[in-house]
Amino acid sequence: MTEKYEGVAIGIDLGTTYSCVGVWQEQNDRVEIIHNDQGNRTTPSCVAFTNSQRLIGDAAKNQAATNPSNTIFDVKRLIGRKYSDSIVQMDRLLWPFKVISGANNKPTIIVKYMGKEKRFVAEEISSVILSKMREIAEAFLESPVKNAVITVPAYFNDSQRRATKDAGEIAGLNVMRIINEPTAAALAYGLQKRANFVDKRNIFIFDLGGGTFDVSILTVKDNNYEVKATAGDTHLGGEDFDNRMLTHFVKKFKKKNNEDISRNPKALRRLRTACERAKRTLSYDTEATIELDAIYKGIDFSSSITRAKFEEMNMNLFEKCMETVNSCLADAKMEKNSVDDVVLVGGSSRIPKVRQLLQEFFQGKELCNSINPDEAVAYGAAIQAVLHSESVKSVPNLVLRDVTPLSLGVSIRGDIMSVVIPRNTSIPVKRTNEYVTTEDDQSTVLIKVYEGERLKDSDNNLLGLFSLSLPLAPRGHPHKVCFTIDADGILNVSAVEETSGNKNEITITNEKGRLSRGQIERMIQEAENFKAQDMKFKKKVEARNALDDYLYKVRKVMKNDSTSSKLTPVDKEKINSAMTKGKSLIGDSQQEDTFVFVDFLKELESIFESAMNKINKGDSDEKSDSDS
Ligand code: AMP
Repeated sequence: MTEKYEGVAIGIDLGTTYSCVGVWQEQNDRVEIIHNDQGNRTTPSCVAFTNSQRLIGDAAKNQAATNPSNTIFDVKRLIGRKYSDSIVQMDRLLWPFKVISGANNKPTIIVKYMGKEKRFVAEEISSVILSKMREIAEAFLESPVKNAVITVPAYFNDSQRRATKDAGEIAGLNVMRIINEPTAAALAYGLQKRANFVDKRNIFIFDLGGGTFDVSILTVKDNNYEVKATAGDTHLGGEDFDNRMLTHFVKKFKKKNNEDISRNPKALRRLRTACERAKRTLSYDTEATIELDAIYKGIDFSSSITRAKFEEMNMNLFEKCMETVNSCLADAKMEKNSVDDVVLVGGSSRIPKVRQLLQEFFQGKELCNSINPDEAVAYGAAIQAVLHSESVKSVPNLVLRDVTPLSLGVSIRGDIMSVVIPRNTSIPVKRTNEYVTTEDDQSTVLIKVYEGERLKDSDNNLLGLFSLSLPLAPRGHPHKVCFTIDADGILNVSAVEETSGNKNEITITNEKGRLSRGQIERMIQEAENFKAQDMKFKKKVEARNALDDYLYKVRKVMKNDSTSSKLTPVDKEKINSAMTKGKSLIGDSQQEDTFVFVDFLKELESIFESAMNKINKGDSDEKSDSDS
């Protein structure tokens, strides 16, 4: 039974590079993908900090080249990971912003905001992006939004899912459900093609985005969506292709000019943006050029790249994608010719070579292009959201069964991982295994929980550990370990010892640097403070603009001789000196207080209007004199 919630519910695709939000529109019986304040249907997953304000989305991305060390992107690559993770260590070198190891080995981003150093964890930055997506929806719907479904790559592990859910909570959202991106895309595809799904169909979703790669195979029949298998890489996508091109051009620049631009964040940022643009061009053209004026030490950079070269430099990554496609089919125990539809999702699925390799893999099968690869995931998330909405009546009657992407188990004798829930098991699920003590009179047993596919426990990912007290007994004494995965794919583990009716139960807690309740509460508070600061800044800008507009109006009147010549010398002097003061206020970048602008505008209005009234009165007196 699907849990229902009151109020509007939105679907958010929280992407590595772009995010997208959708909502079910009952009157049209379909999902509306909502455009942001810039008119764009996707919003850069980017947050920037400056001396005066915080910027989110397009505004943050647009100033990235001039403020690289305080412009944060790619946090999806950090979320739920440890600082010591080799992936974090690799990425860190390519980012222009600073990442250090914080408490609990949590990656911590350092920026300068309003002249002071500020530290953020990935959940906080993601929460800022989620808040922005919520605001976009609220502006469109003209009503507050509380409930959301957020998508994650199918291959996200337990800690990455929990961290994403925490980010939603910090953003003040009620995260009704976390669903897998390819599953969401399949829902979107299914809904658009619903007439065709009376017979069973096998749908293969190929989702290659900015930072992650996901594939899933689903069987759909009569509105029942059952995920058969899922595979992928949480660290493979468009940005890796950009990075390859970036490295290529850095080398080219060095060869040509004997200068290394890789240590200059500003130059690197500009080159990276140009590479991304060139990559997009290569999806429809066979050659792309890069032109950057004075990129480093005043040197202009102009170069070109062919599609063939781009394909060559990324070929092993493309091939890696195809290997994953193959292993997903093997997991689903399905032949490639049993696949009815191959659906393309994610911006990087537009790359012609990727399409060609995929089509060849599926023996020349036509790939489905009917859904927008940038919007399908948010579309599906919005469908899932409406399934949880109490108020909406015209809900599509869909049933969704997802799977767990990684095997889960505990460490047993010989440092072996004993699998309790194998990967690709349908969720939600509850499984209990019995284990026995290995020594006589063992008073405790340490339960170490792992996820992964390797035999040796330490080759897998340690999720957490806890101990269970046991009564003294000869070796071989039993205890039970129970794994529960909820519909969000989030795991809980408990252990129990049952002798003489005694039970001892422990639930796994956040061992992997997950935020504590107290930390989340503090971050919610901080997010509110940031919002208040953003609001304060907006109000100040509005007040300053209002003063500036009024000064412009007064200046125009003063330039008009027929009016200004009628002013008394005292009024003229008063207006001129007020204008000088107003001009200096406008130019004062240190001025923090909104009321200074508001009050001065009132003062200026009063001076100017009283002077104008005198002129108008003089004119009308003159007029009435001449009339009489
Ligand atoms: P997504 O995460 O699905 O929003 O995908 C974003 C990624 O798709 C970014 O790395 C983009 O550079 C990439 N992308 C978007 N359009 C194209 C295109 N026409 N050709 C190649 N890559 C693209």
